[in-house]
This record gives sequence, structure tokens and C-alpha cells, in this order.
Amino acid sequence: MSENKCSFCGRSESEVQLLITGESGFICDMCTEQASIIVKEELHSHKSSNDFNEVHLLKPIEIKEFLDQYVIGQDEAKKHLAVAVYNHYKRIQQPFTNDDVEIEKSNIIMVGETGTGKTLMARTIAKMLKVPFTIVDATVLTEAGYVGEDVESILSRLLQVADYNVPAAEKGIVFIDEIDKIARKSDNPSITRDVSGEGVQQGLLKLLEGSIVNVPPQGGRKHPDQPFVKVDTKNILFICGGAFDGIEKMIASRLNTKAVGFNASLSSNKIDKSNFLQYISPTDLKSFGLIPEIIGRLPVLTYLEPLDRDTLKEILTKPKNAIIKQYQKLFKIDGIKLEFDPEVLDYIVDKAVEFKLGARGLRSICEAIMTDAMFNAPSKDRTELKIDIRYAKKKMEKVNETLFKVA
Ligand code: ADP
Repeated sequence: MSENKCSFCGRSESEVQLLITGESGFICDMCTEQASIIVKEELHSHKSSNDFNEVHLLKPIEIKEFLDQYVIGQDEAKKHLAVAVYNHYKRIQQPFTNDDVEIEKSNIIMVGETGTGKTLMARTIAKMLKVPFTIVDATVLTEAGYVGEDVESILSRLLQVADYNVPAAEKGIVFIDEIDKIARKSDNPSITRDVSGEGVQQGLLKLLEGSIVNVPPQGGRKHPDQPFVKVDTKNILFICGGAFDGIEKMIASRLNTKAVGFNASLSSNKIDKSNFLQYISPTDLKSFGLIPEIIGRLPVLTYLEPLDRDTLKEILTKPKNAIIKQYQKLFKIDGIKLEFDPEVLDYIVDKAVEFKLGARGLRSICEAIMTDAMFNAPSKDRTELKIDIRYAKKKMEKVNETLFKVA
């Protein structure tokens, strides 16, 4: 009797380690392994290209609740963002109608000091929607033909994140950071060429307003011979952020002139002088040096509050992936229960305020306090570790504080 053979590769029973018998054929160990890899790859690629196709749309209040889990405070910005995102995706999902009412895109601009949560907010929205998301720094952009990146490179990155799934990228979110750095440098743009200012704003305009852009895939492994991919930016949501240093003065002077004017809407004694950003209007962005066309394409304007001590303390402990929770998790993996005395948290916040680092500084200060413990604890047989104020102060005194000051 002839030997049984694998129905896939044809090897006989004696040539393989194991031959599995089926109803009308056989499969060897090597072929099952191969088949398992193919199945995994296929399912994965099918899943990842579909992942981005379904946009999970929550109602504005639910969007805000989602943001609340990760971002502390900033209620005003969260509300604006929730409504803008909701309207944007409602607009995309709307079937075509003939009623002449076209819902316009609601690109967003957020103004607020660095480290107050602008990027975090945009990132969290993208996580919630499960759409491709990329962050670009406006400072690296220059007018086409100059040293630096063309504005189209923004879309190359979005394409890469979307794994070259163009329809997915076309529903993605782009966060353009430091948009204030491409403000027009002088009021008279014709004197010198302003390649990193107004020129870039003009370039961005094309993307913001929605057009079909030829995008170089840049190292795209799936399209090695294709020089350009056409991407329609009509449904890409652009969220811009910037610190706009000095804009408060512009707001203040506008409010003052208004307050004495005939139509004063805000009498000067009603103005909360501790935070002028809350009165920001598109006029102020224009005074700062953004061109009116760009401002027109960023219809949702909102601001972020500076972070006070209480907010910083909450940021340390409250968000879903709060820094303190992260350390506790790291130690728990080694079987150690980590605790912080409440004074330590206050001390960390004090230092962050002292170094003027905002929320960004919390992490580096925690690192300075925790590094030695993370180095030693795993090798010791301990099940508990409590960080008290004496320990925290000792560790902070050891580090060179100037490191934080320049950060
Ligand atoms: P921005 O974009 O405004 O400069 P980021 O969003 O990058 O600031 O914030 C820097 C870090 O500070 C974030 O990764 C986050 O850990 C923390 N952070 C800042 N603001 C908040 C906030 N309101 N809630 C929670 N964490 C925050």
C-alpha cells in the first residue's frame, strides 16, 4: 500500500514529523504551521484596513465624557471640540441631498500655553474615533521649493499611519502644532520673502479648505513605483494648536478700546483680567499674523486654561493613565505595592510650578524621584514601597535643578 501523503505539499508520511488525517486528505505539521501564519496575516490585514472604516460616533456629551477620562479640566475647549467633531462626522456620514444646504467643515484652532493639553485632547479624540491621526509641527514646514518640508508631507504622514488606506486617511485627523509660529512676521509681507510664514499659510490653505492633493507616499512600501497618491482633504479634520505668546496683550487692548466705545459689549469691570484668553476672537488671530483666509478655514476657535496647582495635582493621579498610576503598575509587575504620601504629590506639583514646566514637568520630576527606587527595588525582596516627603526631597536635591529649568 502506498504511503499517505500531505495533500498540500505532497510530502510522504516518512518525510514529515506528523501527518494529520482528515476526511478526504492529509496535512503535515509544516503545512499546518504555514497555514496558521497565513490565517493570522490575512485576518490582521483585513482587520486593520477595516478598523479605520467604521467611525464610532458618540453624541457631544458622550464625547466630552470620553475626554474627561484622559484630560483634566479644560471644559470650554472640550465642549467646543465635542461639538465640532460631532458635526464634522455627522456631515461626512450624511447621504447626499439636493436641498442646497451644505454643512461646512469645522476645522478647529486651540489657543493655550504649552503643556495645557492641546495635543492630548486631539490625540484622545482620534483614539475615540479610531481614525488615523498624525501630529505635525508647523515650524518644520516651508514653502514648496525651500529647505524644510512641503505642506503635502502632512498628508504623507497621515497616509503612513493609515497604512496607505486612502479612504481611511481621507477621514483622519491632523493635529498641526505650533501654528502660531507661521504667523506673518511683519505687517508688510512684500519687503522680504517670508518662506516659513505667510507662504506656508498659503500652502496650508489648500489642505484646510478641502481639495485633491498629490501626495508623495514617501517610502511607501506598498506603492514603491507610484510617484503620487491623490488624497482628498475634504473630510480630513484639521485641529491646530498654538501658544500664541503675547496674544493676551492684543486681546486686552482690543477689549479696552471696545469697553470705552459706544457699543461696548463687555464693560471693563466685568472683564476677568486674570485670563484674557477666554475673550479670544478671530480678530486677535489676525492681529497676531494669521492671514484672514486661514482664520476663515478654522471656524471653531477655543482656548485652554493655564493649569493651576489643583489641576496639576489631579493630572498626577486622576486620568486613566495618570503618571502615578503608571508607576504603581510598573512596580506591581515586580510584586511591589507602591504608595505615595500625599505631601509628596504636593511637593511634585510645587516643583512643577516653580520650574514653570506645567504638566509636562510632572513626569520628569517623578522620574527624578523614582529612578533610584526603580533601579533598586526589583532586586530586593520587598512587597511594599512608600515614598515619603523626606525621600522625595533627598532625591530631588541630588539632581541638578538647572536641568529642569532649561527643559
Ligand atoms: P500642549 O499640546 O498643550 O503643549 P500636551 O497636550 O502635549 O500639551 O501636554 C503635555 C502632557 O501634559 C500630556 O502628555 C499630559 O500628560 C499632560 N497634560 C497636559 N494638560 C493636561 C490635562 N488638562 N489633563 C491631563 N493631562 C494633561
